[in-house]
Amino acid sequence: MDYQTHEHDVLVIGAGGAGLRAAIEASASGVSVGLVCKSLLGKAHTVMAEGGIAAALANVDDRDSWKVHFADTMRGGQYVNNWRMAEIHAKEAPDRVRELEAWGAVFDRTKDGRILQRNFGGHRYPRLAHVGDRTGLELIRTLQDHGIHQGIDVHMECTIVTLLKDGGRVAGAFGYERERGRFKLFRARAVVLATGGIGRAYKVTSNSWEYTGDGHTLAYDAGADLMDMEFVQFHPTGMIWPPSVCGILVTEAVRGEGGVLKNSEGRRFMFDEIPDNYRSQTADNDEEGWRYTQGDKAARRPPELLTRDHVSRCIMREVKAGRGSPHGGVFLDIAWIKSRIPSGAEHIRKKLPSMYHQFKQLADLDITEEPMEVGPTTHYVMGGVKVDAETQMSTVPGLFAAGECAAGINGANRLGGNSLSDILVFGKRAGEFAAKFAKEQKPATVDRRQVDEAAAGALQPFERGPSGEGAYQVQYALQDMMQDLVGIVRNEAEMKRALECFGPLRERANRVGVGGHREYNPGWHAALDLHSLLTVSEAVTRSALERRESRGGHFRDDFPEKDNAFGSVNFVVRKKSDGAMEVARAPIAPMPGELKQIIDEMK
Ligand SMILES: Cc1cc2nc3c(=O)[nH]c(=O)nc-3n(C[C@H](O)[C@H](O)[C@H](O)COP(=O)(O)OP(=O)(O)OC[C@H]3O[C@@H](n4cnc5c(N)ncnc54)[C@H](O)[C@@H]3O)c2cc1C
Repeated sequence: MDYQTHEHDVLVIGAGGAGLRAAIEASASGVSVGLVCKSLLGKAHTVMAEGGIAAALANVDDRDSWKVHFADTMRGGQYVNNWRMAEIHAKEAPDRVRELEAWGAVFDRTKDGRILQRNFGGHRYPRLAHVGDRTGLELIRTLQDHGIHQGIDVHMECTIVTLLKDGGRVAGAFGYERERGRFKLFRARAVVLATGGIGRAYKVTSNSWEYTGDGHTLAYDAGADLMDMEFVQFHPTGMIWPPSVCGILVTEAVRGEGGVLKNSEGRRFMFDEIPDNYRSQTADNDEEGWRYTQGDKAARRPPELLTRDHVSRCIMREVKAGRGSPHGGVFLDIAWIKSRIPSGAEHIRKKLPSMYHQFKQLADLDITEEPMEVGPTTHYVMGGVKVDAETQMSTVPGLFAAGECAAGINGANRLGGNSLSDILVFGKRAGEFAAKFAKEQKPATVDRRQVDEAAAGALQPFERGPSGEGAYQVQYALQDMMQDLVGIVRNEAEMKRALECFGPLRERANRVGVGGHREYNPGWHAALDLHSLLTVSEAVTRSALERRESRGGHFRDDFPEKDNAFGSVNFVVRKKSDGAMEVARAPIAPMPGELKQIIDEMK
């Protein structure tokens, strides 16, 4: 089989924030680095991030500190987070943001010239460094500008389909060029996965076509453990109308700037149910909530800024009770702030320029005049590759993971803004330790048979030809099934039905055929994505069945309460020697006294 061969000390798969930051760090320590991505450089998911980067810089409220950020992250994750990752993240995020600034990132500013920070759900103080609602673009632009001067070899529009192993350790990766269809072999001493999320396993999602759970699956197939796969985040506010744009994100920054949620009766329903663990931090009335969004330090957050899991369920409750908007969501109103702010329309356009254009262009709606119709959308996966908190190495030697495809920092639910800081903090660490690993190891040997098998597997859809099953039909069937049976509200009966679907769906995936040839063939790419989509969907379903309680992003109507018995375990998914998927309990290590004390003090 024909393929081009590339050799790097460290191969980074994924060029979003985590991958770029890892590549920069690895390269800075003197090893050769290859960076592979499915789309053009700069087009990763990170570029879509709107609201901001969470870091306790304390520029807007000097009561903020790493300790408050740590406690907020643990509370948001319902205490099943990897506490060491949450600690490292809270401590190192400010340095990573300042470093971005030093590398040229332009942030919105306070009046005295410091980086401006905004309110976001679950964060006690204004904490999100931002650039309007285009923060991800600035982050990627800055890392890219910095990265291209580091001598990193970039392989764009290339999809990795398998990792290669030398005995127990990783030896490289194998993939194909999306444009030409040619195969590529990457030899490497260490590999960093930074492939982002799994949103495309669901029908309604804010994620783009790239997020098919590839990194999760590459790691799983290579023998690494996945963790927390039951925890999928459904963001409360996605566009729901018109149908062609269903799922596109409406940033939480809208609520951070004073936007309120109302039902069809015009009532602000979020005051109806405040979770006990947030009661003392939540405003008593509209007025207090408004003052909080305007920076009044004596006020507490409005209930619209409670965690995403809770807000999503409140929206579903209103819709189910028949108090939803015409297209099955609720109303998000930012236009009302004109009654409080002089030049309110201009203020909204300045603070939320992308949201203004998004609704104007996609829904013909002016958000400075009318409320938006919104509903939950699959947004983020807390679960991912199980990694060591310090080094980001997975359970496979030489295989590292960072960013959304890694698990741990977020526990049962991620706070908005924590992903952009996560990808910087742990992207840097993954790059540093992958480079260290590469320097300490002899080159690995690539087994030619593994490469030939991977290539033959990738070409199978052509052998079946256009009369085979359609790749998109299988993808849609899976997405519909996951949306209906393993979505926001779950129960045992439905998830067992979902489990029964995987066998037939896999059989259909194995019958998928494509016509034409390898050049510019999206049908072929969709066929090859199916294995990842099916693997992560099954991992989500099996883990969700095992967690017989409700916690964070995982809600079961047959076990609607939190159960302490599940508060000290994570669920780990791994491939057994016979190829079957196994879910095992992994006890959470006890938290050191000083961290416990921080959490208790902040309660
Ligand atoms: C609309 C939207 C708004 C958001 N807003 C915010 C926000 O304001 N604040 C915040 O903290 N978070 C936000 N998030 C979440 C955050 O953007 C992501 O979680 C984060 O950017 C993920 O970064 P990453 O580096 O892990 O992966 P990504 O940026 O997702 O990059 C993944 C990379 O992996 C590559 N890749 C994937 N599979 C393969 C493969 N098989 N072979 C080769 N390459 C592959 C892709 O091409 C891409 O380059 C938002 C998300 C969305 C969708």
